[in-house]
Amino acid sequence: MIIWLASGNRHKKEELSAILNGHELRTCDTDGFDFNPDESGASFLENALIKARSLYNLLAGRGISAPVLADDSGLCVDALGGRPGIYSARYGATGNGKTPDAAEKNALLLEEIGDTAERGARFVCAMVLFWGEDRFYAAQETLKGEIVRNIHEARGGKGFGYDPILRIPELTRTVAELSEDEKNRISHRGKAARAIAQLLREGVPGTDFVNPLFPAQK
Ligand code: IMP
Repeated sequence: MIIWLASGNRHKKEELSAILNGHELRTCDTDGFDFNPDESGASFLENALIKARSLYNLLAGRGISAPVLADDSGLCVDALGGRPGIYSARYGATGNGKTPDAAEKNALLLEEIGDTAERGARFVCAMVLFWGEDRFYAAQETLKGEIVRNIHEARGGKGFGYDPILRIPELTRTVAELSEDEKNRISHRGKAARAIAQLLREGVPGTDFVNPLFPAQK
């Protein structure tokens, strides 16, 4: 099935393509759409819905009826009362609109957390499969870990964003040291995407979503 992904993030697309194999994921950046919705929601779920609805309507305006997959994710740090949370992508942005790159954000965050003993943090991902106002499904999942003590303990070159500074104690590695497969198996996005993948595979008996191959794409 063709599913439109409401994100231009290459890493997200790679992670999701591996899980939703058998489906073709299309993104706006590769297909010539200018898509930049205002993420004004108060939660991950609200923002995921905003992105999904916005792309769905944009596609509908061009005569394309297709399911849209959207996610909103971020890092919630216990010592910061759950921040940066939904503002993770914009963390450290200055008034002139310049957003720091990932390495700068990681350094800033470690500085803000300081040397507190409270190192707990979690990645959160809300994901929505949206096929119009009358039918959408959501999943939300987390990946728990600990923020490394300082920038010298940041490790790994895989993944993206805050991966080098979130350490998974059970694996004694940071997320950026995990292979794509390993990350997908335990990650917030991996778990949410598998819930959606199961829905697409099996439908939901007793609802209108019994046949995952919707009439429009039979
Ligand atoms: P979104 O694209 O609006 O969902 O913003 C997500 C932001 O949260 C990203 O720019 C990253 O900074 C952070 N983030 C979300 N998921 C991950 C992850 O798996 N690894 C590292 N950073 C992540």
